Amino acid sequence: MLVSRRHFLATAAAGIALPQRLWSASRIESGAMQVETLSDGHLVLPVDFVFGGMPETELAPILARHGIAGGALEPPCNVTLLRDGSRTILFDVGAGADFMPTAGRLSEALDALDLSPEEVTHVLFTHGHPDHLWGLLDEFDEPLFANARHMMGRAEFDYWMDPDTASTIGEARQSFAAGARRRLGAIADRISLFEDGEAVLPGVTARLTPGHTPGHMAFLIDAADPMMILGDAVTNPHVNFERPDWPSPSDQDAELAAETRVGLLDQLSADGLILVGFHLPEGGIGRVERAAKGYRYLPG
Ligand SMILES: [Zn+2]
Repeated sequence: MLVSRRHFLATAAAGIALPQRLWSASRIESGAMQVETLSDGHLVLPVDFVFGGMPETELAPILARHGIAGGALEPPCNVTLLRDGSRTILFDVGAGADFMPTAGRLSEALDALDLSPEEVTHVLFTHGHPDHLWGLLDEFDEPLFANARHMMGRAEFDYWMDPDTASTIGEARQSFAAGARRRLGAIADRISLFEDGEAVLPGVTARLTPGHTPGHMAFLIDAADPMMILGDAVTNPHVNFERPDWPSPSDQDAELAAETRVGLLDQLSADGLILVGFHLPEGGIGRVERAAKGYRYLPG
């Protein structure tokens, strides 16, 4: 495995008072396959959204070890790009313009790679949350990746297209339901749906990893160095690894997500798979190993 990191300097759009931003991409070459993570920016989340309800006396030393001192968390957003010479595949599309001012910068990252949205051949979704889905449409409400075949797990698609989801999802995520339904509705006639265990594309197998959302999918990539695109099945490098069994309010079904995480980390560590996490640090590409307590994330 070869991992390299590149940094791109993109200037802010004229007239908008934003500082210059540093774009980074992490990259693995594996046989004919090239996998990169592109920064869509980052989220700003209240700590309680991630750690609320966890046992405080045990949580405090974990957070201290990772230098988290309260306030807000700022997890990065890493969109995965896989190219193999004939296909250009994006895993999720980032947040777009309407979710958070700190996210939705994927187009700039693609520009920095000299890749136009029209060159993307496939878009595979892990799940329907805003930071993964809302970059789907351009400013004219047309699919930004105009030539791509869009694909999502059937259970996930059905959940977000169900009109009842807005009333069952809870107040904090109401806008998620409306936003997903509007965007997925725009491509409902052309999206391809797949099932757990299905070979979605040659060398890409879907793996149902429920809990964060009801139909969340990870993707197993059959390469010289096998890897798993995790989406949000594992979302942070500290608590999710040290105590994968602790339910987190950032998951819609926190108990089920914890069960999924425990099983995944067990497999990823035992098989030595490369993992690619949407919100993990330093580009999100790494491995996991067992530690004295729980697991440890090894970036790069
Ligand atoms: Zn996410």
